[in-house]
Amino acid sequence: MKVLVLGAGVVGVATAYYLWKDGHEVTVVERQPGPGRETSYGNAGGLCPSFAGPWAAPGMIAKVLKLSVQRDSPIRFSPLPEPRKVAWVLQWMRNCNAERFRVNKLRMQRVAHYSLQCLREIASGEDLPSFDFHEGGTLQIFRTPAELDLGRLSAKALEEYGVPWRILDPADISALEPAMAHSRATVAGALHMPADASGDSYKFSQGLAAFLQLRGVDFRYGVRIDALEREGDAIGAVRTSQGPLRADAYVVALGSHAPFLVRPLGLNLPVYPLKGYSITVPVSDPDAVPRMAVMDEHNKIMISRLGNRIRAAGMAELTGYGLDLNPARRKLLVDVVGELFPRGLDWGQVEFWAGLRPMTPDGPPILGRTRWNNLFLNSGHGSNGWTQSCGTSRIVADIVAGRQPAIDLDGLTAERFHA
Ligand SMILES: Cc1cc2nc3c(=O)[nH]c(=O)nc-3n(C[C@H](O)[C@H](O)[C@H](O)COP(=O)(O)OP(=O)(O)OC[C@H]3O[C@@H](n4cnc5c(N)ncnc54)[C@H](O)[C@@H]3O)c2cc1C
Repeated sequence: MKVLVLGAGVVGVATAYYLWKDGHEVTVVERQPGPGRETSYGNAGGLCPSFAGPWAAPGMIAKVLKLSVQRDSPIRFSPLPEPRKVAWVLQWMRNCNAERFRVNKLRMQRVAHYSLQCLREIASGEDLPSFDFHEGGTLQIFRTPAELDLGRLSAKALEEYGVPWRILDPADISALEPAMAHSRATVAGALHMPADASGDSYKFSQGLAAFLQLRGVDFRYGVRIDALEREGDAIGAVRTSQGPLRADAYVVALGSHAPFLVRPLGLNLPVYPLKGYSITVPVSDPDAVPRMAVMDEHNKIMISRLGNRIRAAGMAELTGYGLDLNPARRKLLVDVVGELFPRGLDWGQVEFWAGLRPMTPDGPPILGRTRWNNLFLNSGHGSNGWTQSCGTSRIVADIVAGRQPAIDLDGLTAERFHA
């Protein structure tokens, strides 16, 4: 079968991989000059099923309101009443309660654990260039005793999701992660989740796309997709800046931009961008910086070691599609990393970046069939999209092939929004 994948972020490239494995003739269409250049470029690098959970949580409405009026808060919310944003926020608010949180978290956990297993299979089974994959787990650090108490509570909940964990005293932290011995921050304790990993989703996208290109997958870069053209109950072609492209099946993997292309088909995809920022800093002394991913719970900033670089990312802005770089965000990231790891980084060469997390209001991604019988979705991966990319792509390839996916699809398809 001829399949067109729309978008070459980490999700589109992983989708192309599983479709190629099934023997399809695959073409990937991407407006950027290469793969992984938008949200998949500068994310925190965490491959963390332990953290996979919805942004819609009990108490979040009050927390977001309180934080968004504070200066330099990690959360920002523009009050402009854009209809799509208002609809998204209302749906998000309906999910901010304990019952919905539990259901949504379990759904996301199901995908995230499966997905890391899929990624490990690709990493060990295929001859890919390094993407700085590291299996050291995540260290979530708490700066105050009150934060540590909350950490203990949330750790207990991890048992329900089958996530292994261990609480560490300050002395144990530097035994496990020696770079923490140099930290200038006061740390009350930490939670270690050894099953997590980290890696560079941009390098992974590039390496996997190059691997597929050598094996006959056709990547069309620099091509803008303008519309999906209907033909009866199906999609007949994709209209692009370089003319129409036809296939037997189409998979939408367009990150935060997916809603614009499917809306003219009557599909209302509740995906909205949640902007975040990152810095990437070259390492000058490998022993002075962490090997494992470190989550600073106080500042909600994740720091990952990506080979000979450190990546730190965080912040959440519900402000539309702009990608402007706010210098105050850069300062916060630099200050937090500098306080935790005062040595071993080359601060003369900091790369500052912003990206748009494709968020669904309840948390899980939107996978699989639509009412158009050859149009499939692999969308809405939110703040865990790197972690979820390989599993969701395998699921979508299973659905395209008419096979039963390995995990239950309950709550992972577009149907949940029309129930
Ligand atoms: C600050 C930050 C930190 C994050 N940290 C983590 C983390 O630690 N762990 C984790 O798992 N996830 C993390 N994420 C989330 C993760 O990066 C995303 O969920 C993931 O990259 C989404 O991948 P995607 O392929 O769906 O989207 P994208 O990477 O955005 O890919 C979509 C592609 O579609 C293309 N496209 C869009 N419209 C068109 C068009 N009209 N024509 C042609 N091409 C088009 C774009 O150019 C783009 O390449 C983070 C995100 C941010 C912003």
